[in-house]
Amino acid sequence: MKIRNLQQKQDIRNLTYEELVQYLEGIGEKSFRATQVFEWIYKKGAWGFEDMKNLSKELQDRLAQDFELKPNTIAQKLVAEDTTTKFLFDLYDHEKIESVLIPTATRTTACISSQAGCKFGCKFCASGIGGWSRNLTCAEIVTQVLHVKEEALKHKRPLSNIVMMGTGENFDNYENLLKALRIINSDKGINIGARHITISTVGVIPGIQQLAKEDFQVELAISLHGYDNPSRNVLMPVNRKYPFDELIAACREYSKTTKRQITFEYILIKDVTCTENAVQALKKAFKGIICKMNLIPYNPVSEFDHKTPSGKEMMAFRDSLEDAGIHATIRTPRGRDVGAACGQLRHSAQV
Ligand code: SF4
Repeated sequence: MKIRNLQQKQDIRNLTYEELVQYLEGIGEKSFRATQVFEWIYKKGAWGFEDMKNLSKELQDRLAQDFELKPNTIAQKLVAEDTTTKFLFDLYDHEKIESVLIPTATRTTACISSQAGCKFGCKFCASGIGGWSRNLTCAEIVTQVLHVKEEALKHKRPLSNIVMMGTGENFDNYENLLKALRIINSDKGINIGARHITISTVGVIPGIQQLAKEDFQVELAISLHGYDNPSRNVLMPVNRKYPFDELIAACREYSKTTKRQITFEYILIKDVTCTENAVQALKKAFKGIICKMNLIPYNPVSEFDHKTPSGKEMMAFRDSLEDAGIHATIRTPRGRDVGAACGQLRHSAQV
């Protein structure tokens, strides 16, 4: 394993535990120091090397000389009545990214971004409007979690779940994403169980195939939002590259190989995706796939002319899936009053 050139100061949160051990041994320190440094960063919430009280002053100075360890600049922090908290972070190059704390009765979830902007341009999402800027580093992904975790603890709510459903397509930044999630999952790091971590994708088939080969029991969610090629083409330009039938075939293969359940995310848009035609096509497509469906009432974005179906229409859609043995739930919108839908805060900061 090669540590990148340390002449250029890099963020220490880009290092896995093993990489940190290698660095520390390289400067003549004992490997147990890596456990102490990880504890300070990921368990005790240290935002600077000077906070690491059980390290010698000499080691603190050496770490500060070689690495960065800073909190993000918070450009905006909005708290909804239900305590859903949305952060807009201003990164070193002034790229803006969003993260959200979502507390519910049973879990405390951090919704995290993997890219600054997005190139996939789904037609219901504010994140695609401003285009893609760059991939986030491992450290930039992990640091979002640290901020949300700190906020959750202020409400006496230890963080229980991570959903990679903020801005960006996760499998378009596969390497940094997996590295960050391994730190988040590690018992030496943030220690969130793999089953409590969800990776969402718009259906980037090579990423689904790669994840099936990893020894990492994370949850997979597919943003489906269409029931065949024509309907998916309308909402999701990615469908032209990875068509509906090939995506469903890849999901069937993933389900067969991993024996893990896939969650299909499906936005209910009046007269577009919430129709009788749609529900019948989905029942057919999901045969042989271990799956459940998350039905999401459309959250209006001013740029797009779509409408939310009535409660009655959405419940009829769900009941029809359930009758066919497909577990389906209608997601309760949270934090709409602070623009918690994907990309809304970042987008409004740009216009
Ligand atoms: S839904 Fe995800 S992939 Fe699609 S535009 Fe928004 S951020 Fe990008």
